[in-house]
Amino acid sequence: SLCVKQPIGKELFQQFCWAQPDLQNYMTLLKDLVGQTGTRMQPNVTFLLKCKKFKLRKELHRFLSQEPFNKYQDSMFFDRFLQWKKLERSKLFRQYRLLGKGGFGEVWACQVRATGMMYACKKLDKGHVKRRRGENLALNEKQLLEEVDSRFVVNLAYSYETKRTLCMVLTMMSGGDLKFHIYNMGQRGLDRNRVCFYAAEVCCGLTHLHEKLIAYRDLKPENILLDDKGHIRISDLGLAVKLSEGRLVRGHVGTLGYMAPEVINGHKYGLCVDWWGLGCLIYEMTAGKPPFKGRKENVMRQELELRITKEQETYDEKFDEEVKSICTLLNKNPKERLGCSGSGGRDVKSHPFFQEINFRMLEAGLIEAPFTPDPRHVYCSDVQDIDEFSTVRGVVHTDKDDQFYKQFNTGSVPLSWQNEMMETGCFKELNGEKRTALKEGGTER
Ligand code: ADP
Ligand code: MG
Ligand code: MG
Repeated sequence: SLCVKQPIGKELFQQFCWAQPDLQNYMTLLKDLVGQTGTRMQPNVTFLLKCKKFKLRKELHRFLSQEPFNKYQDSMFFDRFLQWKKLERSKLFRQYRLLGKGGFGEVWACQVRATGMMYACKKLDKGHVKRRRGENLALNEKQLLEEVDSRFVVNLAYSYETKRTLCMVLTMMSGGDLKFHIYNMGQRGLDRNRVCFYAAEVCCGLTHLHEKLIAYRDLKPENILLDDKGHIRISDLGLAVKLSEGRLVRGHVGTLGYMAPEVINGHKYGLCVDWWGLGCLIYEMTAGKPPFKGRKENVMRQELELRITKEQETYDEKFDEEVKSICTLLNKNPKERLGCSGSGGRDVKSHPFFQEINFRMLEAGLIEAPFTPDPRHVYCSDVQDIDEFSTVRGVVHTDKDDQFYKQFNTGSVPLSWQNEMMETGCFKELNGEKRTALKEGGTER
């Protein structure tokens, strides 16, 4: 984690190695290995060769983690790393406009003073959390967020507490949610190429969560947010659950109208429920209405659940053959549903509906979004119209609450924070002058 995963740690450790004459050969080798097995596929690299290189990298890693790592800890590079870690602990935010409102509190735009980086700060009111016994929910969301690291899922950068709130500082998504884009932008529904693009990105987000055995369980347009470039991320992991290896869960969890039949029926279920969710999402983006209910139709819970478990959804002329075919994600039987064959989503990604998507490029962030939000436009209903979040009175905090707050109040998430330092150029700037002095065979990146 210190020398490979954490971006600043990695940079400083490599700078240290380059500065050691006896390690330069190893570093050149490492550079070659990484260069060749990186993002670009080389068709002439055989599987066997790849294995050899993988083994070589592991050997190299082991070597560097022994004496060189010990020496590193006595070096000024490591001192500097510790200074960065100290800075990582400090948290100073400036607060801007209200972005939205959730079950336990508000979400505000905020900015890190030191770097200028913008984030969304989700504030949970301690009183509301306690009154509605949301402690486990809140902690669950925070801990799952800490675990994910994907460009298609909202990331957690910091978490801390104030006297009255618990705060999660998240990736800023300023382009509004998909619900707004489907219904409030003039025409109802989205163009085919946008449907395909968003579905593909959600698909990548889901596979990331599923690799970590996290069932998301709440896929719906409202929870898919756009950033300023028009890329989407899955947000709101409040209902997500971590499955233990191979296990299934039970639980009537999700949003009415989007829950999979097996959830409604009270059966045990696993990751498959999210592929149903993706089906609902693709359907709704295309049709401009959810699959089992008219746009403004008021349906009783029982009736809606009956339709989901028993009735066949209908497709109008907006659906071409391929969209209709990908909507077999809405197969009521999870065993026959697309995505649920145990291939980790590969069968979904290779469906003809996605034939124009290059998933490797998409995952590397190399594909431009089909629609870029206008930075002057606010993509949500007027938040000022929504009532102030009322404060809860008469809630007494106890030692047990303090225990919970402590678990929550863990400060910066190293990966996110160090990426911020790199991306905003702060690292270069502060590390700069000493860096040139030490450059001797240094890294050019
Ligand atoms: P809850 O779990 O209480 O429903 P959400 O996480 O859904 O809370 O957040 C509530 C609202 O705040 C969202 O509907 C959205 O409008 C806004 N919001 C949440 N996260 C972000 C974010 N990362 N960037 C921008 N706005 C956000
Ligand atoms: Mg929400
Ligand atoms: Mg939530």
